[in-house]
Amino acid sequence: MTCSSNNPLVDSLGRVHTNLRISVTDRCNLRCFYCMPAENVVFRPRHELLTFEEIERFVRVAARLGVNKVRISGGEPLVRSELPVLIRCLAKVPGIEDLALTTNGLLLAEQAEDLKSAGLQRLNISLDTLKEETFQQISRRTGLERVLEGIFAAKEAGFEKIRLNAIAIRGLTENEIVPLAKFARKHDLELRFIEFMPLDADQAWKPEEVLTGQSMREILSQAIAPLQPLSRADLSQPAVDYRFTDGRGTIGFINPISEPFCGNCNRLRLTSEGQVRNCLFSSKEWDARALLRDGDTSGHDSDDRLTQLLRDSVTAKLPAHGIGEVDFHPPQRAMYQIGG
Ligand code: SAM
Ligand code: SF4
Repeated sequence: MTCSSNNPLVDSLGRVHTNLRISVTDRCNLRCFYCMPAENVVFRPRHELLTFEEIERFVRVAARLGVNKVRISGGEPLVRSELPVLIRCLAKVPGIEDLALTTNGLLLAEQAEDLKSAGLQRLNISLDTLKEETFQQISRRTGLERVLEGIFAAKEAGFEKIRLNAIAIRGLTENEIVPLAKFARKHDLELRFIEFMPLDADQAWKPEEVLTGQSMREILSQAIAPLQPLSRADLSQPAVDYRFTDGRGTIGFINPISEPFCGNCNRLRLTSEGQVRNCLFSSKEWDARALLRDGDTSGHDSDDRLTQLLRDSVTAKLPAHGIGEVDFHPPQRAMYQIGG
């Protein structure tokens, strides 16, 4: 086999990488404490960010190697200007079957229709609370009303299966769980709770602050209806889904801390300035931007070098994130700099 062959991206544990998360910016209109610093954030200068052409080219190469799912993230992806232009390009890349985006929803009411008509297939909207006061405590900004407007605008625009992502933090969001679940059931939205991970810029994460999926299931079963696990068709999906036994809706739990799912991980990440990461917690990056900007941008040789870079990154992937082990160190970059 040569590096230029289109064999899939398989790592040393046999994990086949088909899922790419692309950050399009490190900028954001919120300052969530579990992600960004409160102030004095130094953002990447514009010229360091990959252009849409560079992102599209990277995706074409990745798609030839079997990547079929792309998720756009950030920072807040909707603050990147002309984002629908990128969506339109990526939707046409042969092999990309699933094109999704994660947003905090603040700018969604204005952009939902354009994103939909550009070819965006799925939306995840982050919503940790239905209380403005808690929203401000978490995000250090105002805006819950706008997020809710964004959710309804996305429904109007024709997005189906809109998913809400809620971070679960012990001592802060216990009282949000039941109202969020009721809201999701009422409006026919999928809700997923995500355990708080050590990716905050302040590096203040503590294991005691993780509200586990198990404890949330107990709260929900008592307050709403018993939960029954659904069989898992795709083990690379990080969420474990349950259905309410009263027949009204399902709910998912992403438990990277209490029930790590690294053994089935199929994800790669591209940061906004063009670095490939094989894990959220990776301490190493592979510089795709250098290759994308190095002279011959259309030729096969440079595609071969990108292919090899992707293979190198996958080959170096560790078995697991290592959180909780004695030699674990949080990554140098916080979540907003990686892309969630
Ligand atoms: N700004 C967009 C948003 O908030 O949806 C997209 C980027 S954000 C980094 C992507 C996802 O990562 C969000 O759902 C956010 O809640 C989640 N996230 C951020 N920091 C996290 C942390 N420390 N642990 C777990 N999830 C986190
Ligand atoms: Fe911004 Fe999303 Fe990070 Fe919150 S989680 S600060 S919305 S990038």
